[in-house]
Amino acid sequence: MTNFRTIPQIIEPQYVIEGAGVLLRRSIAPHKSNLFDPFLLFDHFAFNDPVEGPIRGFPMHPHRGIETVTYMLEGSTAHRDSLGNSGVIGPGDAQWMTSGRGILHEEMPRRGPSGNIYGFQLWVNLPARLKMTEPRYQEVNAAAIPIYEKDGIKIRVVAGRAGNVIGPVTEIAASPLYLDVELAPDQEWTQPVELGHTAIAYVFEGEAVFADQTVEAVRMVKFDDGDSLRVKTENSSVRFMLVAGAPFKEPIAPYGPFVMNTTEEIQQTLMELRNGTFIK
Ligand code: MN
Repeated sequence: MTNFRTIPQIIEPQYVIEGAGVLLRRSIAPHKSNLFDPFLLFDHFAFNDPVEGPIRGFPMHPHRGIETVTYMLEGSTAHRDSLGNSGVIGPGDAQWMTSGRGILHEEMPRRGPSGNIYGFQLWVNLPARLKMTEPRYQEVNAAAIPIYEKDGIKIRVVAGRAGNVIGPVTEIAASPLYLDVELAPDQEWTQPVELGHTAIAYVFEGEAVFADQTVEAVRMVKFDDGDSLRVKTENSSVRFMLVAGAPFKEPIAPYGPFVMNTTEEIQQTLMELRNGTFIK
């Protein structure tokens, strides 16, 4: 029998300033309570004001112990790192970056022809056994992200599976589902999600009924446990990111751009940064 998930929590994203003065909408942030395990942070870049001035971005900063997932819809993000990797994440592209034991990188959002920047960054935890793994990138161009399409349902599948469509990002410890879902008015969509996995949806356009609650953009919903979830549209269309993954159920010690398991590991990280041994 299908056990549909309910939604115990609706989160209103808060405006915060990050990097060198970038205004963004943050729904969740790393905290030792780890309520969204394995997810640590969800930021929404939405710079749509033409008088906002130059966008300063996120100059060189380190990461250890996590994965950062960047997905752009408009504009782009130029990035380069201490290991010699660089590139541009363009509209519709996704980058799944596993920091593992450490990288130093910069991320610089740029306006698209429309003058807008629109995208998301999710942080996914790594389990203790992988926190010090080799850094790794999975970069997927828009054209390489397969689409599940049926009637008024259109889903870009970055990771995991929707119907018979499987996303290109693989071998991630949290076995994630990462979907960009668009539903036309008067649609009903159901999606299997592993029992016990954490599931969140970030509604950024329109509105829909999630479980039995109407949710309007811009909100994050956190689903309760179950093996399936259901979203229905009425008069409006909706577009949202659906993210799910296996919790690691380990203690976490978050500190800025690092998330380790213990305070000692954070102190070790800070010491390596000071003495120049952070990048091996
Ligand atoms: Mn970063």
